Amino acid sequence: LKSLLKDPTLLETRAYVGGQFVDGDKGTFVVTNPARGDVVAEVADLSRAQVAGAIAQAEAAQKDWAKWTGKERANVLRKWFDLMMENQDDLGIILTAEMGKPLAEAKGEIAYGASFIEFFAEEAKRIYGETIPGHQRDKRITVLKQPIGVAASITPWNFPNAMITRKAGPALAAGCAFVARPAELTPLSATALAVLAERAGIPAGVFNVVTTSDAPETGLEFCENPAVRKLTFTGSTPVGRLLLRQAADQVMKCSMELGGNAPFIVFDDADLDAAVEGAIMCKFRNNGQTCVCANRIYVQAGVYDAFAAKLKEAVAKMKVGDGLEDGVQFGPLINDKAVEKVEAHLADAQAKGAEIILGGTPSELGGSFFQPTIVTGATTDMQFSTEETFGPLAPLFKFEDEDEVIAMANDTIFGLASYFYAKDLSRVYKVAEALEYGIVGVNTGIISTEVAPFGGVKQSGLGREGSHHGIEDYLEMKYICMSV
Ligand code: ADP
Repeated sequence: LKSLLKDPTLLETRAYVGGQFVDGDKGTFVVTNPARGDVVAEVADLSRAQVAGAIAQAEAAQKDWAKWTGKERANVLRKWFDLMMENQDDLGIILTAEMGKPLAEAKGEIAYGASFIEFFAEEAKRIYGETIPGHQRDKRITVLKQPIGVAASITPWNFPNAMITRKAGPALAAGCAFVARPAELTPLSATALAVLAERAGIPAGVFNVVTTSDAPETGLEFCENPAVRKLTFTGSTPVGRLLLRQAADQVMKCSMELGGNAPFIVFDDADLDAAVEGAIMCKFRNNGQTCVCANRIYVQAGVYDAFAAKLKEAVAKMKVGDGLEDGVQFGPLINDKAVEKVEAHLADAQAKGAEIILGGTPSELGGSFFQPTIVTGATTDMQFSTEETFGPLAPLFKFEDEDEVIAMANDTIFGLASYFYAKDLSRVYKVAEALEYGIVGVNTGIISTEVAPFGGVKQSGLGREGSHHGIEDYLEMKYICMSV
């Protein structure tokens, strides 16, 4: 892998604590390339005591960092952003090697991830408080916004760069110090970020990366260490619930970006070609392994067959392969467990009468490669109607009218992203308002941007990431009441 990089020093296998790259007291753990199965690197495995040490370094460094002016913090964050973009190719290669997504998508993720650093660098200068007219003649009321303190993050493997930057960006901009625990499958994108953070001049201890193989142990340290005042997590709903319970003893502030079960609705007045294009981006990006990927595709009866045929034709042309090869749109799934889930959902659907019109089997490439798959005749008793597949399986449900599809779309414990295609303006408003989701894509399959508030309702999460709202998750309000 080193030989593919313009700057091989970006491939860092040690953790980053208090401004030092450190080895693990527990030795190393192995990171493998999901496309080839070979070992990419052996990465420092930190003990719980080392994680506690990182939190202590962060706590010490945060005091001074909070005193920097917004503009001073903005300048080093901006530098960090510039370095990410200058090294976009190398960061993309490291990401593809450890995670499998096609290189073009990986580079796209680097730009997306970097955009959060850029955006929140700008926001650092605009953490405005408030003055409120006093409630008595002698009273003056001021509201300050202050950093929470040390923020700790736990992030998944599906966006090894962006899931960290969308948390670290607002945290650092707000004046918090940050301890990141990347997914054990994809720690190298995180340590590469640490190399660039150091180069950018982010002070020692302000941004730390603790690489550990034992996620539950690290999660416990984050929740039980009194120096941590904020926990930010992206991952599955079951782990999110567990972390919320653990964090309760310290009444810790929590942000949670959890699972989704996104509906994608095609009404009969939709532009079908646009809907097919949107469905492909939305369902198959990252091989279906994002929490905003369409999980259930509802198509109105009048356009059902036409949509299915067009979708099949378009997806059949797409290429499966090693993400580092040219022209590949589908990499491998992250591991065999992910393949098993797709297969289980497929077998369940087939047993209940669904028909496979494309794919349906592992790819001839072997390993964790799976063919993009479309099934028709999906019904609400099938597993994928309540559970996220997190893979390249597109089930097409048929519906008759608006009220029916809104009820089906909302019939889930999740509420992250939703999508629909329609042209009738009153329908657009009615459906957008009725969907119980934090995000609604109308006539588009791509909704992620640093300038908008990303987050879910119901059991999809707490808090928002991105936009000027995103920084609030890292700030406390202090109300000062003065008698004059
Ligand atoms: P995914 O399906 O994306 O892996 P998970 O919720 O299982 O979703 O994992 C998200 C992140 O949470 C990963 O980095 C994983 O290592 C971590 N994790 C898993 N279990 C725990 C736990 N009990 N405590 C803290 N972190 C955990």
